[in-house]
Amino acid sequence: MQQITKSVTLAYSSLPRPHRIMLGSLTVITLAIAVWRPAIYSHTDSESLPVPAASESVQANTLTPEASEPLDQAAPDDSIPEDELDQKVGATDVHEYIVSDGDTLGSILTQYGIDMSDVALISNQNRALRNLKIGQQLSWKVNETGDLKELTWVVSRKETRVYEHVEGRFAEKTESKEGEWRNSVVSGTVTGSFVTSARNAGLSNSEINAVTKALQWQMDFRKLRKGDQFSALFSREKMDGKDDKSQLTAVRLRTGGKDYYAVRAEDGKFYDQEGSGLARGFMRFPTMKQFRISSQFNPRRLHPVTGRIAPHKGVDFSMPVGTPVLAVGDGEVVLAKMSGAAGNYVAIRHGRQYTTHYMHLKKLLVKPGQKVKRGERIALSGNTGRSTGPHLHYEFWINNQAVNPLTAKLPRSDGLAGKERTDFLAQVKEVTPQLQFN
Ligand SMILES: [Zn+2]
Repeated sequence: MQQITKSVTLAYSSLPRPHRIMLGSLTVITLAIAVWRPAIYSHTDSESLPVPAASESVQANTLTPEASEPLDQAAPDDSIPEDELDQKVGATDVHEYIVSDGDTLGSILTQYGIDMSDVALISNQNRALRNLKIGQQLSWKVNETGDLKELTWVVSRKETRVYEHVEGRFAEKTESKEGEWRNSVVSGTVTGSFVTSARNAGLSNSEINAVTKALQWQMDFRKLRKGDQFSALFSREKMDGKDDKSQLTAVRLRTGGKDYYAVRAEDGKFYDQEGSGLARGFMRFPTMKQFRISSQFNPRRLHPVTGRIAPHKGVDFSMPVGTPVLAVGDGEVVLAKMSGAAGNYVAIRHGRQYTTHYMHLKKLLVKPGQKVKRGERIALSGNTGRSTGPHLHYEFWINNQAVNPLTAKLPRSDGLAGKERTDFLAQVKEVTPQLQFN
């Protein structure tokens, strides 16, 4: 050993000075890495570990990798700045969902991170829930720990079933009290903001939400101008003389001299006058090819030491630094900056209901306010912020809630066809003449 040290020292001193400095600092760096690595593992949660080399895996396994705070959660100041629609109309803690093709209660609730045991409990106790129909609406509330608290199933206009979790049971309550449904056309002119103008015209908050959702892929409500006009047809239910429920049937909005329509079809979704889909398609993965998942979405992840919920709000894809990261859908960049634990961070808003988040990036290729197209490069992946290996942390949010990006129902661009389209066109013919401006 002494021999080796001696010859190394000799070789070292015989080197020219710049080389010695370089070699010296390399040694320091190497030592630092060697000393530092085990420390990382003790801080890590297994999720974002890169595939460890064989010699390292033993060590990684003997430590308790979960015994730490989650690595890549966005700090509170990382949240997307709210715009007027969010602030004034408000995001509620109720999650709404329209049943579509191929959905089951389980597939719907689990994509929102509700535990399979809750789904099993409610559907075993209430078998009718196995017969959901396309176009029906479900809404639910969860408690602080993410457990299902209450589920509301709008079976039809006449019948709503509510399931409340009380002492290990989901008891069913049927509300079949029936008010009087009638159609009302509400129209107005934009004077200040859309929200204020819509309120002045007599729309409730939930009706304003319905209108902005229906037209979300066709326009940016923040960019409407004074003098723009809107007209919406609602089906409203009067109960004991007061407005109770309301459903948007169709809406027309004129801006810059052009009319935009969204009309509700039997399936509960909105289409344009031709029956074409309004939502633009999304890509499932934010990269050209699919990478290995190093950590799954888990909103109920428990911290092993503190016992607190430390959710993993997205999916981690293990990938080499410098991999192009793509916008999964058309949208507007709302955040692109270095942001603490998230590292270099991009967030995109798609329409009004959807946002996507991309973290630990090496290089940002977009700026806030920039419009991006589906498939456009927005960044190069990296290992910045609180991250222990090259990976992309990707989140998909619907209505202000993180959902599982791998299973979430993505907005689809498909239009109607066949009989459904014929029926829809007949409905358009009946409905659109009613959408007059005052
Ligand atoms: Zn992650």
